[in-house]
Amino acid sequence: MSDSIATAERTPGRKGAESEGGVPIVLDGVTKKYPGTDSAAVDDIHLEIAPGDIVMLVGPSGCGKTTTMRMINRLIEPTSGRILIDGEDVLSLNDVKLRRTIGYVIQQIGLFPHLTIESNVSMVPKLLGWDKARTAARVEEMLAVVGLDPDEFAHRYPRQLSGGQQQRVGVARALAADPPIMLMDEPFGAVDPITRTKLQDEFLNLQKRLRKTIVFVTHDFDEAVKMGDKIAVLDKGSRIAQYASPEEILTSPADDFVAGFVGHGATLKRLQLERLDSLELHPSTEAVDGVEPVPMQSTLHDVLDAMIADGRDAIPVTDDGKVVAAVTLEDLLGRVRELRAEADAKQGVTTADSRPGATPGTTPDPDLEAGTRSDQQS
Ligand code: ADP
Ligand code: MG
Repeated sequence: MSDSIATAERTPGRKGAESEGGVPIVLDGVTKKYPGTDSAAVDDIHLEIAPGDIVMLVGPSGCGKTTTMRMINRLIEPTSGRILIDGEDVLSLNDVKLRRTIGYVIQQIGLFPHLTIESNVSMVPKLLGWDKARTAARVEEMLAVVGLDPDEFAHRYPRQLSGGQQQRVGVARALAADPPIMLMDEPFGAVDPITRTKLQDEFLNLQKRLRKTIVFVTHDFDEAVKMGDKIAVLDKGSRIAQYASPEEILTSPADDFVAGFVGHGATLKRLQLERLDSLELHPSTEAVDGVEPVPMQSTLHDVLDAMIADGRDAIPVTDDGKVVAAVTLEDLLGRVRELRAEADAKQGVTTADSRPGATPGTTPDPDLEAGTRSDQQS
């Protein structure tokens, strides 16, 4: 009896067999000064990235985004400061651990042209010493995950794929060893806008399941708003002008630099972040002849777009394909007013907060002073 217990087959532990989500990343005073340059490419950046978040690094060309990214996976060594992954200094990780921990996707894709798609995707598993069967199964799974039929694509070469398909292979390759961290440097920057939207949507869906920790570089603020749990708006030297949720950056940009980056149409962009199910809608089961209903998951931006396109100020809303409510232009405007009020309230708080030493009413306001002077001159 006790023998049978001792020899009973155990289910092998599944730890590591499946994604367990992301791990935290901390950049602690990281600086990179390239030899022979006057100013640092990355100047004392501090950034904490929570496990399972997509953090968008957004900023003008040359501000240090790629350098920051490449220090995380040790392709570039920092001049000073520390980078911690799940509490461990990246400089102390060996190559195997590093490959297992971080997947890397870049705009130029970086597929090996003389290797088949299968060989490209299986590269890291092979380096990690996975056996043939496990590797082959993983390649098939990953191609399917990114929407490429393995039977059709596994044996092709990169040049036999479109740009969008190649980019999918790039994502599959980075995910192959199931790393908790993905670094993505302008991954969808080189494809046409329609393909880009599709890749973004698919990737967001994938991430809902995987919950990786993702650092995603872009120079496109709209992409940052769409993809990010948080956005770090970077100025020269990777100076963090603001690190906050997309909602917060849109409603209260920290300074003129951030406001300039947000650009025009902040209210419309904000509507892209709100979905119909966040509004109180009028229940209704009536379809309207000739009006295409909108699904409950639509963004307020899409609903407004549909209203303008149809020339209507009320549209039926469906849930699971059935009409359950109606949304009106007044509903949307009401929400816009609320957002404005929230932003104004916050603005008041931020202004007071941002002058910690200031006692209201006693500190001279430079603008007012200038105004007084010019009054006196005239
Ligand atoms: P971004 O990705 O935001 O466009 P980069 O990180 O590529 O910016 O570059 C930041 C700064 O560092 C730029 O001024 C760039 O010219 C400089 N730089 C990048 N790589 C090197 C290098 N290998 N040697 C010297 N300077 C570099
Ligand atoms: Mg770059």
